[in-house]
Amino acid sequence: MNTKYWKNMALGLLVSLVVSGCYGEEDGYQIPDIYKGSWESPKNGATVVGYAPAPISEAKYDAYLNELYITWDGGNDAWEKKNEYVGAEVEFASLLTETKVKRVMISNIGDFGNLTVKRDNGLPNATLNLSRFRTVVVTTKHGARDCRFRSIYVDEAGNKQYSDWTSLSEHLANAEMTQNMDYMAWKEFRERQSNPLKIHFESNSDLRTVEWLYNRYSGADATQEEFRKWYYMDCATMSFEPHNIACDPYENLTFMIKKEQTGGAYAFDYPNHNEGRGIVYPASESNMGSDAWWLLPDMQAVVMHEMGHCVEWMPHKGHYEKKGEDCDKQGYQEGWPDAVKISNGGFFGLATEGQINEYKAAIEKPYKDPQDNKVYVWQIDYNTSGAFMSWLRIYNGDFVRMLPWTVKMDALTNDWSLEYAVKYILKESYPDMSMEDLWNEYVAEVKKFLNNHQ
Ligand SMILES: [Zn+2]
Repeated sequence: MNTKYWKNMALGLLVSLVVSGCYGEEDGYQIPDIYKGSWESPKNGATVVGYAPAPISEAKYDAYLNELYITWDGGNDAWEKKNEYVGAEVEFASLLTETKVKRVMISNIGDFGNLTVKRDNGLPNATLNLSRFRTVVVTTKHGARDCRFRSIYVDEAGNKQYSDWTSLSEHLANAEMTQNMDYMAWKEFRERQSNPLKIHFESNSDLRTVEWLYNRYSGADATQEEFRKWYYMDCATMSFEPHNIACDPYENLTFMIKKEQTGGAYAFDYPNHNEGRGIVYPASESNMGSDAWWLLPDMQAVVMHEMGHCVEWMPHKGHYEKKGEDCDKQGYQEGWPDAVKISNGGFFGLATEGQINEYKAAIEKPYKDPQDNKVYVWQIDYNTSGAFMSWLRIYNGDFVRMLPWTVKMDALTNDWSLEYAVKYILKESYPDMSMEDLWNEYVAEVKKFLNNHQ
């Protein structure tokens, strides 16, 4: 047991706002009791004196990641309450079913802001610079135009205060601003890297040669460009900003098509840890016509998963073991790269059909002891844990980005579990939530999603 972690948790509980939402108008799927609210909303039209909604300096939407980035104007001296601002409550359409949900979004700046971790690949230490003036909401394109929010403040006496609700569009109109709906974080990453990724392709297959691969993507340059795009899509999901990178970028990637490789793809340090990464990919020669390994979008999904491994930070030890197996490490090792992939819209198996199959398989399993070598259903790796991690962005749009940092935290790295990580990330927003409640809510929404896609 790590005492520092529990001390922080206890402190977090003491100073945390007791926040919960009002879900009276919710429909569609059941919300666990702990999120049902008792805090009173201002009456319709009433102004909360002195607590105007925080001014916005920027709002942009990324249609790849389904992320709405709202940046509050922390540099605005006319905003006299800015020192009291702690976060926002946002009402928005959920990504999976467009169900209207409300979520308190308070970044856990106390633990994550200015966190520095050592890297082992020769890069300088990485420092995470989080801002409480940044909120990321995962929603549909329509939801991004439609959401509303109110600001949460804590005054000098420690009392929480709320602004009135306002819609994003109304707020932007008042400030004479428009929302950028064409933002693509991965493009930003590609343009800002001082050492852009170089990819080298090789093959020992006579059928799936490098030339054969190039022909699929209209030439060598276009192939290079497409794979680079996948890499920077990964980076955009893993990092807070192009200049606030949460992963260890690698400069050289060697993509090796291997005739003798039959057990799927894998990633490894190549030529060594400091210099780059390699991905071995099966040539799969026996199935030249319709092999999913070589068809889009599946090939993209697999390569993005392997690229995730190339930068993945691992905990030393997980909390839950069963029969000598580290359930947490396994669940995270394969789940997180899939969370990155899924956040970009990728499932293995064609488009929606693949997604439906993965969700069906996940919710049929019992919460506890779902299969022989796992304790909890969210430890079943690949798409099961990955889709759940990606869904947890409904509580914090940066959830997938924050997860690797929990792995590197002194307080957690020797006793890591997704459960602890979730508690750590959400402790300012939802100090009392449990994993079982979250999983049950997830299952309820997945069922609604499946009903919508029968
Ligand atoms: Zn993997």
